[in-house]
Amino acid sequence: MREPAGHAEASVCTNAKYVIVQILGERPASKERSILFLFSDTGGGHRASALAIDAGLRAVATTLNVHTQHVDAFASCGTFPLREGVASYGSMLKVQPSPYPAIFHLTNGRTRFRVIAELGKPFIRRNFRRMLQDIQPDLVVSVHPLLNVYARQMLDASGLPAPLVTVITDLVTIHHSWTAAGAADHYVVGSPEARGVCADRGIPLSRIHDFGLPIRAGFSPAPADRRDAKAALGLDPSRRTLLVMAGGEGGGRVPRLLQGIAPTLRELDLQVVAIAGKNVGLRRKLGALGETLGRDALILGFVENVADYMRAADALLTKAGPGTIAEAAACGLPVIVCDFISGQEAGNLDYVISRRAGIVAMDSVSVGSALHRLFGSDNSNVLIEMRAKALASARPDAARRIGELVLDLMETSVTAAVRGA
Ligand code: UDP
Repeated sequence: MREPAGHAEASVCTNAKYVIVQILGERPASKERSILFLFSDTGGGHRASALAIDAGLRAVATTLNVHTQHVDAFASCGTFPLREGVASYGSMLKVQPSPYPAIFHLTNGRTRFRVIAELGKPFIRRNFRRMLQDIQPDLVVSVHPLLNVYARQMLDASGLPAPLVTVITDLVTIHHSWTAAGAADHYVVGSPEARGVCADRGIPLSRIHDFGLPIRAGFSPAPADRRDAKAALGLDPSRRTLLVMAGGEGGGRVPRLLQGIAPTLRELDLQVVAIAGKNVGLRRKLGALGETLGRDALILGFVENVADYMRAADALLTKAGPGTIAEAAACGLPVIVCDFISGQEAGNLDYVISRRAGIVAMDSVSVGSALHRLFGSDNSNVLIEMRAKALASARPDAARRIGELVLDLMETSVTAAVRGA
C-alpha cells in the first residue's frame, strides 16, 4: 500500500545556473528520486502548468522520496540568439499586427520543425546536457513544445534512462513541435481533440493520456452567491462583475475592445476587473481609461491569485488562452472569448462553443450583445445554464492524474532497476 510522500511546500529560488523550484521539507531516509520539470516563461501557461503538476504530485501518496526541480531551459541553458528569440514571444504578442502567428504557421510542419530544431541546437546543446548531468533526473516532464526534442536528444546523449513525459499545454491546436519525432515516452493531452491530433501523427494510443489541462489549486466551483468572494477582494458585493484577462503577457486586442464596449459596461453597470498580466504598458493604458469603464473599475498587473478573481466574477472576457479557459471552467465561470492567437489558439473557439461554456464574440458589437445576453433583463437563466455547462466541461483532477502517471512510471522504473540488480 502507498504511504504518504515526504512532500512539503514548493518555493522558488534561483541558483547561479538554473531557475529552480524545489520541494522542501523533511525527507525520509530512502533514496531520493528526482523529477525535472522543463518549462519556459513564454506566456503564463507553461510555468502555471508545471506548478500545477508539482502540486498534483504532492497530492498522491507514494513510498518514493520525490524531489522536484523546475528549470526554465531557454533562460538557463540557451545562448544568443536562441534564448533571446524565445524570450521575444511576449513582445511579439504585444505589437499589432503581431508577427507571431506567421512564425507559428511557418514552423508548423513535421519537416519544417525538424529543420528549425536542428538550427537552434548549437545554441542550447552544451548547457542543456550539462544541466541534465548536474541534476541526474529520474524522470523529465516537459511542458513546453520547443523543449521536447532537445530533452530526448540530450537525455540519450547523456546516457540517462529517465522517461520523458510531455504535457501538452494547448487544448486543441497542437503545433508539430509538441509531437516532433515522437520524442516523448508519454503525452498528456487536454482534450479528446488533442488526443486525435496526436494519434493522427502516429503516436500510439497507449502513450497518449487525455487527462485535461493541469491547473493550479484554488480553481474550484464558485459559490452561487459570490458576495463574500467579491467583498474579500474589496469589490462591491452587490454588483455584477466582469473579469477581463489577456493571458500572462497581456497581449492582443482585448484592450482596444474594452474601449469599444465601454458604453455597454456603463449601461449594464458592470464592475470591471481587468488583469493586464506582465504587460506594464497595458496596465497603464487601462488605468488611464478610468471611469470610462464604469464605476470603480479595478485594473491590476500580474496577480498570483487569479483563482480568487475567477471565483468572485460573474463572467470572464478573455483571449482564448488554454490555461485561462480551463481555469474558468473549473470555477464554473462563463467566458466571452474575444481574441485568439492565430494558429495556436484557433481550435479553442470551437472548444468553448462545443462545450457551451461560453460565447465567442470577436468584435465590440458582438461582445456588447454577449454582455446584454448574459446581464440584460431576464438573463439569469442564460448565466446559470452557462455556469453549469462550464463546470461540466472542467477537468479539475488533471494535475493529480498526471502526478499519478508520473509516480507510476517512477515506481515501475525503480522496480525494474531492483529486478535488474
Ligand atoms: N495568469 C496569472 N496571473 C496573471 C495573468 C495570468 O497567473 O496576472 C495565468 C493565468 O491564470 C493562466 C496563465 O497565466 O494560468 C495564462 O495561460 P493561458 O494558457 O491562458 O495563456 P498564455 O499566457 O499562456 O498565452
